[in-house]
Amino acid sequence: MLLVSGGAVTASELLDPRSFADAVAVSPTEAPAVAPSAPPAPDPPPPPALPPAFDRGQRSIDDPASTWVVVNKLRPLQPLDHAPADLVDIGGGMQLRAEAARAVAALRAEAAAAGLDVEVQSAYRSFEYQQGLFGNSAARFGVAGAELRSARPGFSEHQTGLAVDVGGGGCDIERCFGDTAEGRWVVANAHRTGFVVRYPAGSEQVTGYQYEPWHLRYVGPELATELHDTGVATLEEFFGLPPAPQYAAG
Ligand SMILES: [Zn+2]
Repeated sequence: MLLVSGGAVTASELLDPRSFADAVAVSPTEAPAVAPSAPPAPDPPPPPALPPAFDRGQRSIDDPASTWVVVNKLRPLQPLDHAPADLVDIGGGMQLRAEAARAVAALRAEAAAAGLDVEVQSAYRSFEYQQGLFGNSAARFGVAGAELRSARPGFSEHQTGLAVDVGGGGCDIERCFGDTAEGRWVVANAHRTGFVVRYPAGSEQVTGYQYEPWHLRYVGPELATELHDTGVATLEEFFGLPPAPQYAAG
C-alpha cells in the first residue's frame, strides 16, 4: 500500500542529492553562465588495422589436384596412382602442371636477372615411373635401402606435378647446391614465384627427408610468402600436421 505523505520530505529524499538540488533551485539570474560550447574534440584515429589473418583453410591439403596438397610418408596421394590433368612440357623431356611450369620459368628468369643459372634437373614423375625407380633401388639395396633413396610410389611430391629438383653453380641435386650462389638465392627468393625448399636442414624428423636444398615445391606465391615471412620451415608445421619421419608400420 502506497502512502503519500502530504508534502513532507522523507529521510530518503533528504539523503538524495538530486532532491536537495531541486529544493534549492537557483533563480535564472543567478545561474552561472554556461561556457560557450567548445568544438567537439576530433575522434582519435582508429588503431592501425591488423593484417587479415592468413586463411589456412582456403585450399585443400588433401586433394591431389590442390596446389596446397601435403604429401609425405604418412600422407600418400589419394588415389595412389593420381596423375595431374594439366601437365605441360617444360623442355628436356620434363613436365610440370601448367601453373608450376609458368612459375618455374619466372623463377629461372628472376635468377637469370641476378646473374644466376638455376636449371631444372627433374620435374614430374608418374606413379609408374616411381614404381620402376623404387623397384630397381629395392632390388639393389633392399626395401629399407630404397626408402632412404627415393619415395615409395604414391608418396612422392614429384607425382603431384608441382615439385622440381634444381641445380646450378656446379652442383646438381646434391647438398652442395645449398652452398652455391644459386642455392642461396633460391632460399631467399623462391617464395616470390611460389616455391618453398620443401626439405630444409633440421626438419628431417618432420618431413621424413634429409636436407634437400635442390627440391623445390610449388605452393603458390601467397602460401610460399607466408611461410617465408613467418619463418615456418615446413608445410607440416604450418598446417598443424603430425610429423612424418617414416612410413606407417604395416
Ligand atoms: Zn625432388
